[in-house]
Amino acid sequence: MNVDVAVVGGGMIGSAAARYLAMGGARVAIIGAPEPTKPHGPDQVYGSHYDQGRLARRLSKDALWVRMTTRSLDVYPRLEKAAGIPFYRAVGCLHVSGEAPDASRAVEMRDVAEKEAIPYRFYPAGDDGWREKAFGLNFPAACHVLYEPAPAGMINPRALVQAQLRVAEQHGATLLRETVIDVTENERGVTLATSQGTTLHAQRVLIAAGGFTNFHNLLPCPLPLTLKGETVILGEVTAETAAALADMPILTYQIDHPQLSGIYMTPPVLYPDGRFYVKMGCNFTGDIRPQTLAEVQQWFRRGGGEDPKPAMAQALQAILPDVAFISLDTRRCLICYTPGGAPIIDALRTRVFVAAGGNGSSAKCSDTLGRLAAGLMQGDPWPAAFDRERFRAC
Ligand SMILES: Cc1cc2nc3c(=O)[nH]c(=O)nc-3n(C[C@H](O)[C@H](O)[C@H](O)COP(=O)(O)OP(=O)(O)OC[C@H]3O[C@@H](n4cnc5c(N)ncnc54)[C@H](O)[C@@H]3O)c2cc1C
Repeated sequence: MNVDVAVVGGGMIGSAAARYLAMGGARVAIIGAPEPTKPHGPDQVYGSHYDQGRLARRLSKDALWVRMTTRSLDVYPRLEKAAGIPFYRAVGCLHVSGEAPDASRAVEMRDVAEKEAIPYRFYPAGDDGWREKAFGLNFPAACHVLYEPAPAGMINPRALVQAQLRVAEQHGATLLRETVIDVTENERGVTLATSQGTTLHAQRVLIAAGGFTNFHNLLPCPLPLTLKGETVILGEVTAETAAALADMPILTYQIDHPQLSGIYMTPPVLYPDGRFYVKMGCNFTGDIRPQTLAEVQQWFRRGGGEDPKPAMAQALQAILPDVAFISLDTRRCLICYTPGGAPIIDALRTRVFVAAGGNGSSAKCSDTLGRLAAGLMQGDPWPAAFDRERFRAC
């Protein structure tokens, strides 16, 4: 097969980039591994979007992320319509700081909200007016709370990716559900080989392989990416509880805890097994940092390190004290960090481009990231709202 652009990785960023490239008139092929149904062979890759809920808040301490998310949220209603696939619930967000006197994060976020004109309501410690928006969520009285109204809300990441791919295909893109195991640049273009035996020629290639970007000979040189094993806990609730909590805001919570930090949580969501789960994730002192492909695959297959489940289960129950969870289960995922805290979107060679390093926050702004990558490949001017230097590979 011969195309103008090959996109390696049909995940959150790659699918968005493919849509923009196809809409721009390029002949696009997306070569994206399918979601595994069971762990198998040595070429196995995984995506960080195999889930039903991702937080989409505009507020952040870093104005770059605010802008990237705002631009994405503007696009999502049109994308839902064009694809005929709903993926967004605008339920608002509660940002809960650590216990006073450390209000620094809440105050920093309030400053950014002012500067970037994001609506918010601030409840200093002791003012529990936020409870009317909280559906029974509970925190120590000494916490400061910032409420961010809609359009903050929740993305279904699988459905968003499906929507991006569907519209890309409507514009002529081809989707190959295969795993790329080699990318070679030559004077005529780029040749890609897959583990299924397909060879594909393209004028240019975008590598958007998430946590697997440095593996499988995809890049001419490795990027400075750090991987972290991330565990989430799913608390199963009844359909009645799910209906009662359907409009509960998403949550970020700087919990004061010896083992846990940076909690994030969604309202109950329907999962493919037909059950409803509240999903909570966080950092854990025992989180592992796999480096090789084998270590990453081992993490997905068997886990590793200390078990965060007891601490996470306790924290979840303390946040939702009135909910009787039917079951509590954990799932493994992968976060891909960059040294500068912004995703890398850059040209590594004339024909080889990369968009990777979601820093655990790129579901919500994946549309913007894909659009920036597509624009870079098309030779569009880089938008002034986004500091170009922060996206450089080095
Ligand atoms: C537990 C968890 C919770 C998160 N919560 C949030 C949140 O609330 N809000 C938020 O904004 N972000 C969140 N994130 C981060 C967000 O999901 C990621 O930033 C985002 O998925 C990154 O997109 P990506 O396209 O870089 O990678 P991915 O979405 O992982 O996509 C990469 C794709 O490339 C494919 N691939 C890899 N290698 C190859 C290959 N060699 N050949 C073919 N295909 C390949 C993979 O199969 C995958 O489909 C969370 C992440 C995790 C793990």
